[in-house]
Amino acid sequence: MTDSKKTLCPYCGVGCGLEVSPPAQPGKPVNRDSQGYPSWKVQGDRNHPSSQGMVCVKGATIAESLNKDRLLYPMMRETLDQPFRRVTWDEALDAIVNRIQTVRYTQGADSICMYGSGQFQTEDYYVAQKLIKGCLGTNNFDANSRLCMSSAVSGYIQSFGADGPPCCYDDLELTNCAFLIGTNTAECHPIVFNRLRKYHKKNSGKVKMIVVDPRRTTTAEAADLHLAIKPGTDIDLMNGIAYLLLRWGYIDHQFIDECTANFPAYAEVISQYPPDYVAKKCGIELADLETAARYWGQSKSVLSMWSMGINQSSEGTAKVQTINNLHLMTGQIGKPGAGPFSLTGQPNAMGGREAGGLCHILPGYRMVKNPQHRAEIEELWGLPTGRIAAKPGLSVWEMIEGLETGKVGFLWVAATNPAVSMPDLERTKKALLRSPFTVYQDAYYPTETAAYAHVLLPAAQWSEKTGTMTNSERRVTLCSAFRDRPGETKADWEIFAEVGRLLGFTEQFKFTNSAEVYAEFVRLTKNRPCDMTGLSHEKLNTQGPQQWPCPADGNLVEGAPARLYTDNRFHTPDGRARFAAYHSRGLAEPPDPDYPFVLTVGRLYGHWHTQTRTGRIEKITQMHPHPFIEIHPRDAAKLSIQEEELVEVRSRRGFARFPAKITKNISPGTVFVPMHWGALWAKDAEANVLTHPEACPVSLEPELKACAVQLAKVTAD
Ligand code: SF4
Repeated sequence: MTDSKKTLCPYCGVGCGLEVSPPAQPGKPVNRDSQGYPSWKVQGDRNHPSSQGMVCVKGATIAESLNKDRLLYPMMRETLDQPFRRVTWDEALDAIVNRIQTVRYTQGADSICMYGSGQFQTEDYYVAQKLIKGCLGTNNFDANSRLCMSSAVSGYIQSFGADGPPCCYDDLELTNCAFLIGTNTAECHPIVFNRLRKYHKKNSGKVKMIVVDPRRTTTAEAADLHLAIKPGTDIDLMNGIAYLLLRWGYIDHQFIDECTANFPAYAEVISQYPPDYVAKKCGIELADLETAARYWGQSKSVLSMWSMGINQSSEGTAKVQTINNLHLMTGQIGKPGAGPFSLTGQPNAMGGREAGGLCHILPGYRMVKNPQHRAEIEELWGLPTGRIAAKPGLSVWEMIEGLETGKVGFLWVAATNPAVSMPDLERTKKALLRSPFTVYQDAYYPTETAAYAHVLLPAAQWSEKTGTMTNSERRVTLCSAFRDRPGETKADWEIFAEVGRLLGFTEQFKFTNSAEVYAEFVRLTKNRPCDMTGLSHEKLNTQGPQQWPCPADGNLVEGAPARLYTDNRFHTPDGRARFAAYHSRGLAEPPDPDYPFVLTVGRLYGHWHTQTRTGRIEKITQMHPHPFIEIHPRDAAKLSIQEEELVEVRSRRGFARFPAKITKNISPGTVFVPMHWGALWAKDAEANVLTHPEACPVSLEPELKACAVQLAKVTAD
């Protein structure tokens, strides 16, 4: 391959377009990376509408991750104490198929589980659903999106009748007030923040930016107003803002009357949130609360954005609905610069949502529990009626519990690293050790999770396979393969399809390329909220990235596809959006005399998740050489902790040690640790050893963002 290719950055859900050029150009020396491998030149794609040529450090250095530590061949071992031995694909797939058949007939299909990833392309997600939910008849497919944005999914469904962020990135430059809550956008979604910051600066004084975060993050530093609320008081804050909006008359009566339901019950709940009570509960100044409500109420358009600080909560769905409430009561949705905008964590978590990549959903925004939805998919997949199970499958934490009890007899993990990212990590690791048979499919080796596998399958990564990804603004980009596949790697969807055929489902897996997979997938979206019947690999290749809805007949309401709900009609049976009235339960594990601090975890600008890629990129490891714990000076003084001294952090589940970073950016009583370091990269510094699995009862997303801990200085003896 000698031409440049267009693709997408495979890190975060911003979904920046990339243009990559081959290492060898006529008349020039071969471009090489820091390890001496021929290196592709990567730059931002100026024509990509989402990113307009911009990339952050992760996108700019991605070429460094293409070659190092690649898993190149299938490997196997009988027990976890044995070394892996190289095997052929036939041997590996025979072992997998035999195991699936044995477990299916001895324990039942519900003992088979697959745990996938927002790193999948949509084609990978789709074929996995067909194999697991369709052919095998169990809904035990979950993805790491469960740890990331499943609360946004359920919050949208509860409020609007369907999933899907209703906004677009152009709204960043059209809004009068940006309300960022539970998101350190500057570090975690840098290009979204670049667009917002530039616009905010240019319109200084006219456009407001409110940031709600217990930490004074880089994002908070750019804000007009930073509300450093106590962890777990988000719902109190939003109910308090709603109280003031109602009292001051900043509400849209006509929109409420004509387009929503349940406002009286909501108004009754928010009447219990007077500002002095809310300010005290949230630990903020009364005047700041009033300023936030005034900014919201007086702005022609309000755009709220959130990510893990809202989603990773034992009341994540309620928090999302509470944000949606504010938009509904002020009519701030379906118009330029306005709406509730969840920022997805992963590059293709959105594609996973579209393809049914969680244990309670099916392709095309269908629900497992809906008999009509199941029947539609069975028919389209050529499967007998009743093949798709009527009950949702196991969420990933329920898979861990299933390993503990022996219910799970076969676990297939692909493109994710649960031995770092799951809560209550020691318990997770013990459960993985008990797995009778684990397949681990990834592009890299070693990883922390590979240590728990019986079979390793080498996956081609995004650079070596052609497929689609959808970013946070519902924009689908075709990622064209731009380099040859190393070793014996295969695309994830090809592996799933091959297993399907070996299991006897030859009709269902006749695909010869990913364009065919995509064509079949989009047919399933016909007349669904995420209608993509007008899309194909060919169209995306020739016309560039496209937003959905994109129906084949081209019929769209005015304002779509840039925004959803522009006609003020929602996907509920009566077309009205729903207010939700909630009182907060607070943190699942609040601080107490034994564990007096709240630990909150988060991400750093350069690193991505569990460092599977970024830990192998020199520039990024130099930028963030080691983990740390942020402590307020007052707390540090009480515990006689000096800068850089080692601090032992204990929760009810385990301990970890981090050098202290003493800073007023964190509130007293709260500490912060980055979540990127697993056992491969640092000893005794795994943040998730401390976190707990208590989850939102609706979204099943664990409260990874907060747990109670105690701190002690580590002394030499
Ligand atoms: Fe990649 Fe996200 Fe950075 Fe864009 S903002 S270059 S998608 S990591």
